[in-house]
Amino acid sequence: MTERAFKLTMDLRTAQKRNRRFRKINIAANAIGGDQPGAKKRIMTFEPLYLKTARKGQLLPKINEARRILSGCILCPRNCRVDRKSGELGECRTGEEATVSSFNAHFGEEPPLVGVSGSGTIFFTHCSLKCSFCQNFDISQQGAGDEFSTAQLATTMLILQNAGCHNINLVTPTHVIPQILSALYMAIDGGLSIPLVYNSSGYDNVQSLRLLDGVVDIYMPDFKFWDPAVAELTCSAPEYPEAARQALKEMHRQVGDLQMNAEGLAQRGLIIRHLVLPGGMAGTREIMSFIVAELSDNSYVNLMDQYRPCGLAGQIPGLAQSLSRKQFEKAMAEARAAGIRQFA
Ligand code: SF4
Repeated sequence: MTERAFKLTMDLRTAQKRNRRFRKINIAANAIGGDQPGAKKRIMTFEPLYLKTARKGQLLPKINEARRILSGCILCPRNCRVDRKSGELGECRTGEEATVSSFNAHFGEEPPLVGVSGSGTIFFTHCSLKCSFCQNFDISQQGAGDEFSTAQLATTMLILQNAGCHNINLVTPTHVIPQILSALYMAIDGGLSIPLVYNSSGYDNVQSLRLLDGVVDIYMPDFKFWDPAVAELTCSAPEYPEAARQALKEMHRQVGDLQMNAEGLAQRGLIIRHLVLPGGMAGTREIMSFIVAELSDNSYVNLMDQYRPCGLAGQIPGLAQSLSRKQFEKAMAEARAAGIRQFA
C-alpha cells in the first residue's frame, strides 16, 4: 500500500463522522423551517438520485449485478468476456480493483460543474477506448496510478465533498462501474450527498448504463468521431460511433437536458463534449446534427479546441499537427448551423 493509499484509509473514519454530522444538521434545518408556510427554505431541495435509489433498497442489487459482470466482463463495447475476478485482464488492463491516478478539486471543467469550489474529480487509470492521441497517454495507456480498495475510493469521495467540491466527477469510469457502485454504497453511509458525474468517452454499453439509472445525476460523455474509419484508425474501435449514439440516447433518457440551480451549478442532466480534430476528422457537423435531431435542441455542448498531437498522434495521418483557429471556427459555425444553442 502506498503512503497516499494508507493515509486515505486512515481518513475514512474522520470523513464518515463529519459527513454524518453534516447530514443530521441539514435534516434538522429542513425540519425547523422548510415545511412551515412562509418559512424560508434553509437547504436546497435537490437530492442526488443515488440517495433515493439506496433508500428504496435498489442500490445493492445493482452492485451485485455489476460485480457479476466482472466474471465475464462486458462492461464496455470491447466485450472482452475475461474473468477480472480471477486476475484476467482485458483491453482496459484493469482487474478486480480500480486504479486511480489522482483526485482533486478541479477548476478546469465546465463552469456549471466548477462553481466557486471546484469539481471533485477522481481520475481513473486505464481506459477501454484507448485513443492513440490521448493527452493523458501515461494514465490511460501506461497505467500511472495506485490501486484503490473500495474503502479508499469511498474515502476519496468523502474527502472531496469535505473540501467543498460541488460534485463527484468520475473521469474515465466505464471500466470500473462495479468498483464505483461499491464505493458509493459505503460513501452514502458516510454522508455523501453531492451530485455524481459520469465523465466518459461515450464508449459505453447501454446494459452497463442501465446499472447507473437512478444513480448518476449528470452524464458528461464525449462524442468523439462520427466516421467508423476514423474510430478504427485512432482507437481500433470502428463500432465507436454507433456505441456512442446508443449510449448518449440512453444517458439522455435517464437524466434529460442539463438542469442548474439558482447558483448556476449543474444538478442533473447531460453535458456533451466534442473535441474538434484537424481536417474535420471528428465529423463535427454530423455529430451536432445527431444531437439536435435525436437528443434535444436544448443540449448543452462543450466544443473543445485544445487538440494537439500527444501519445502516438504523430504516427496517424492527419493528426500530427494541432488544430488551427480557422478549423475550430468552422466547427463552431457547423454546430450553430445544426441548431446547437447552448455552449459551455
Ligand atoms: S471494461 Fe475492460 S475488460 Fe471489460 S469489456 Fe471493457 S475493455 Fe474489456
